[in-house]
Amino acid sequence: MRRAIDRFPNESFDVLIVGGGITGACVARDAARRGLKVALVERGDFASATSAHNSKLIHGGLRYLRNFELGLVRESLRERRIWQRIAPHLVSPLPFLVPLYGGGFKARATLSAGLTLYDLLSFDRGRVMPGHSWLSADEARRREPLLDSPDLDGAFCYHDAQMASPERLALECLADADAQGAAIANYVAAERLLVRDGKVEGCTVRDTTPAASGGMAREPASSFDIRAKTTLVAAGPWADIFLAQALGHPSSHKLMRSKGIHVLVPAMTHKFALTMATAHGHFFVLPWRGHTLLGTTDTAFTGNPDDVGVSETDIADFFAFINKHLPNARLARDKVEFFYAGLRPLVDDGSGDTYDASRKSELIDHGKDDGLDGLFSAIGGKWTTSRHLAETVVDRLAEKLDATTQACDTATAMLPGLRHPEPLEARVHTVIRDEMALTLEDVVMRRTELGQFGPPPQATLDTVSRAMAQDLGWSEERRQSEIAALAHLYETRP
Ligand SMILES: Cc1cc2nc3c(=O)[nH]c(=O)nc-3n(C[C@H](O)[C@H](O)[C@H](O)COP(=O)(O)OP(=O)(O)OC[C@H]3O[C@@H](n4cnc5c(N)ncnc54)[C@H](O)[C@@H]3O)c2cc1C
Repeated sequence: MRRAIDRFPNESFDVLIVGGGITGACVARDAARRGLKVALVERGDFASATSAHNSKLIHGGLRYLRNFELGLVRESLRERRIWQRIAPHLVSPLPFLVPLYGGGFKARATLSAGLTLYDLLSFDRGRVMPGHSWLSADEARRREPLLDSPDLDGAFCYHDAQMASPERLALECLADADAQGAAIANYVAAERLLVRDGKVEGCTVRDTTPAASGGMAREPASSFDIRAKTTLVAAGPWADIFLAQALGHPSSHKLMRSKGIHVLVPAMTHKFALTMATAHGHFFVLPWRGHTLLGTTDTAFTGNPDDVGVSETDIADFFAFINKHLPNARLARDKVEFFYAGLRPLVDDGSGDTYDASRKSELIDHGKDDGLDGLFSAIGGKWTTSRHLAETVVDRLAEKLDATTQACDTATAMLPGLRHPEPLEARVHTVIRDEMALTLEDVVMRRTELGQFGPPPQATLDTVSRAMAQDLGWSEERRQSEIAALAHLYETRP
């Protein structure tokens, strides 16, 4: 993958995608595979926002059955199988235990009915996950000592799937789009819509590539136009902000943002993930790369999405919540290795309730709703359903373009499975050359997982940053400022 910065001002595209999270990446992949001319700009690094800061689950969403969202669960379970098929190197089955404590027959019967429905909705031709089963209290204790408690009734076991790296999975979708001719670049921000006679003809964008030399101060960024017959806003929690700026007034479609935090601690469980539903929400205890990922919270967020972060209070409250329902966890602040916060972009249903708000996606045609022909946005949804959302979006774009395209094949075409030579230093050169890594954070947080288990050792940072300095012509001052700039990832917010 090469940054397509030279192509943008010199070509005209069928679709310009604003945002390089999983939604934008899946649309770029689908549209390019169908033969459309695609441009995609991401103002930061690819998959550096919500698409990185989630529970890493490819799942049906058992809890949505409570709200009878059968269609969403069925869609998610079908997509779960598709991700496992097209990216088996990054998406694997994950067995879950759901313990029941002193709930009696009613609680067990209700959950059993939900899991039976979950199994039925996931049934299809092809690969099927094992169905759910009931474990006695002794068996549940034996499999997962963390569950031990005198009032343990037993536990249900069921399966979902987990991404080893959402960041790399999104990158592979982009790599596939790139291989099909899409023009893609990170560190390019869409600033304004190009509008003529009520028709959107692309965007004015700004190249915000960090300066090669000096400190982190950036050189005056260059701005230019990208011309496209249709423009899709896939800007996640920033979608309404970009649209309001571009339209000059708030869009008729509202977005709610819900903040969720995750905390990484040393391994508490090994093989099994745990999930527990309580009167005040649910939580996950997820084995991930030899550690345990605890997630997640769900609180309405009304601030600037750029400022989202994890506070000490967030961690303390979350640990108190888990310790109350799973006392053997004995979570304490000194166990924290890493944490992150993400914002769910949710379609505003007017209820103000983010926990029970649907995770359904929405495709908006701003020609119909805001009088801006050729402008669309895709909001809401889940990581799991992003491929299917992209299929719907590209069907609509092709119709708008009156284009005869090839059939959508993203459910069957394998992802490229980007591989890296070892050792690290060689890997760094590869991700700079082939994967558009431009900052130290890109390399340690998204091209590799070096920074995702807590601050990497200084020796690692020196090795990686020296290799980057060599390839990208960084001065020593720039190299040091790149290292210093990582500190914010490991600090809580006030
Ligand atoms: C706490 C939490 C847990 C979750 N867990 C799961 C889970 O386990 N499974 C699941 O299926 N889903 C999960 N989700 C949902 C899932 O993560 C999101 O649905 C998905 O990542 C949204 O992707 P996106 O591309 O729409 O948004 P984003 O990933 O936020 O991407 C939008 C991109 O647009 C860019 N952008 C913004 N403005 C501009 C501009 N002007 N110019 C250029 N680029 C711009 C941003 O920089 C950003 O990278 C979770 C979400 C959260 C918050």
